[in-house]
Amino acid sequence: MRLESFVRGSWMSPGQELAEIYSAVTGDVVAQVANGGLDMGEVLAYARQVGGPALRKLTFHQRAELLKRIAIHLSERKDQLYTLSYQTGTTRSDNFIDVDGGIGTLFVYASKGRRELPNATFLLDGAVEPLSKGGSFVGQHVMTPLNGVAVHINAFNFPCWGMLEKLAPAILAGVPVVTKPATITSYVAHALVRMIVESRILPEGALQCIVGSTGDLFDHLTCQDVVSFTGSADTAQKLQRHPVIARESVRFIAERDSLNAAILAPDAGPGTPEFDLFIKEVAKEMTVKAGQKCTAIRRAIAPNAHVPAVIEALGERLSKIKVGNPELEGVRMGPVVGLGQRRDVLAQVAKLRTEANIVVGDPDNFTVEGADRERGAFIPPLLLHCPDPIRANNVHSVEAFGPVCTVMGYDGLDQAVALANRSDGSLVASLYTYDPATAADLVFGVGAFHGRLVLIDRDCAKEQTGHGSPMPHMVHGGPGRAGGGEELGGMRGVHHYMQRTALQGSPAMLSRVTQSWIKGAPTIEEERHPFRYYFEDLAIGQTFMSKERTITLEDIEHFAEFTGDTFYAHMSEEATKNHPFFPGRVAHGYLLLSFAAGLFVDPDLGPVLANYGLDSLRFIKPVQPGETIRVRLTTKSKSPRNEQYGEVRWDVEIMTDKGETVATYELLTMNAVRP
Ligand code: NDP
Repeated sequence: MRLESFVRGSWMSPGQELAEIYSAVTGDVVAQVANGGLDMGEVLAYARQVGGPALRKLTFHQRAELLKRIAIHLSERKDQLYTLSYQTGTTRSDNFIDVDGGIGTLFVYASKGRRELPNATFLLDGAVEPLSKGGSFVGQHVMTPLNGVAVHINAFNFPCWGMLEKLAPAILAGVPVVTKPATITSYVAHALVRMIVESRILPEGALQCIVGSTGDLFDHLTCQDVVSFTGSADTAQKLQRHPVIARESVRFIAERDSLNAAILAPDAGPGTPEFDLFIKEVAKEMTVKAGQKCTAIRRAIAPNAHVPAVIEALGERLSKIKVGNPELEGVRMGPVVGLGQRRDVLAQVAKLRTEANIVVGDPDNFTVEGADRERGAFIPPLLLHCPDPIRANNVHSVEAFGPVCTVMGYDGLDQAVALANRSDGSLVASLYTYDPATAADLVFGVGAFHGRLVLIDRDCAKEQTGHGSPMPHMVHGGPGRAGGGEELGGMRGVHHYMQRTALQGSPAMLSRVTQSWIKGAPTIEEERHPFRYYFEDLAIGQTFMSKERTITLEDIEHFAEFTGDTFYAHMSEEATKNHPFFPGRVAHGYLLLSFAAGLFVDPDLGPVLANYGLDSLRFIKPVQPGETIRVRLTTKSKSPRNEQYGEVRWDVEIMTDKGETVATYELLTMNAVRP
């Protein structure tokens, strides 16, 4: 199998020099890669000139739909990816993390994109900021997709998830992707790209894939491009130092080495559910993907008094792990990705052994099921114990990227915090305690050094997603050694591919530009009630001013009795004496909202299909019996949903007859499109 790159709309492999990729299990050649021969300037130009404009024409919802269709397409073909992945050394459950995890990330971004982003081509970021006394000058942040390319450089350990977790936010943002898989597992990534290309779901130029070297690609980057890198700290630093990255201020996101910790709290001694969960998680993180996960637990930090029990329990669990050919039933751990990686891991273990002793596993004496121990890149799970972690350095800084973890003891929570933070920044730490005060001490002690913290206890034991699994909803990345980057995190991941711009101008101008009505901008008042307009006919700024209604004491008492809300401020003049907010008995906020609906609703059958929510409600001025209110209802923005209806966001202000604002909120309705 000679792997080709997919660039400028076709598959090609012009390079002359061939490199061979070997099976992690058998050592046989599985694929060949030709380096060089691609014009990287042209690759980037194609993305910028063809892919970018095509993606930017689509709305967020349309792009989310593309992601969903790709996810469905890949789901139907994932068995092919499993079969190829076995050669990288992964078991069936490892493949589930990589292949299904990647597809799942696409689904999450598709669904969140439709729910959380507007059906538009740009985003409003935050609220309108008043910038003048008279209200004629305001500010609003907007976000637009970068006009460049998302260059994704991936690590070998997740050829599918690694590619898809980077692709989903970039495509949703409207930025074309050039993906570069790690060579050693590129035959899996290559198959994945081929599936996506063959589906013809993405617009031309939205996805290109470079197999092999990136050549002089970095020389052609500009300020509109983003590099997102996962791999070793050495490569990250080398790439980050490229003069073009500094000169053009190219955004550079890095996920790199990380000495992640699991911390067993003093309350979680042997016999507690949290102790068992700690043991289970450490053993799992050592053996899933043969420990080749950027998030794997490298340091198991436990109270000194519990260290012997931890080592014994882990020893018992790890001794049951069958190492061997990952395709075999019952094999729980395959080899690392290749013989080079095995050499690397063992060299790193040698550095750890200057400060720690191996207490479980023997790299020179272990059994391999269904494969040749020498030809395949097998290593048994290796647990080390560091007797003096305070003075040690390597155990906090040397990443053995395989089934390796070091147990270290502490005395007192302060020491646990200090040890956890010795990694100088990591992707994740997990905490095992059932005591909220201990959890809070640990969270706020280690938080600044970690991108993610997982609090694992008996209450979430069954459903927790694991120390090592980055979730698309939550950020993945960490400070310092871990690269200082951030990926995923729901829509935060999309924002990395967009430019935030501060817009300043008059409410009238900004309302027109952003297609979102701002208080102070002109309104449109027609004779017909806005509820009588179909979705496409309703204008932004269209306004309805209601009649007035005077609030009586009977209204308040009736509402109190009817709903059961007899809070003292509505019921007793005496109780509100010297109250900081209420000058006497006041109407219920919800009574005012209900009356507001009664004042603005046009009741007849019409294009408004449903009221489905209310955002940003603020009660500003209390209303006393005898006061009179009225309501202004203005179309703020519209977002098409499908061929039958669209979402309308209304700006609502309840005010007194003297013009004082009583309450403000945004009302959401679904309105029918013209039949
Ligand atoms: P590398 O840093 O060597 O490679 C990562 C990616 O960068 C690969 O796609 C690689 O491509 C590419 N790359 C390497 N050099 C360049 C370059 N000059 N220009 C452009 N791209 C380049 O890491 P590995 O994947 O080989 O893993 C090595 C070690 O890194 C592991 O043993 C582990 O310690 C650490 N690692 C850490 C991770 C983390 O997030 N904590 C994740 C993965 C690895 P190619 O394969 O073609 O060289």
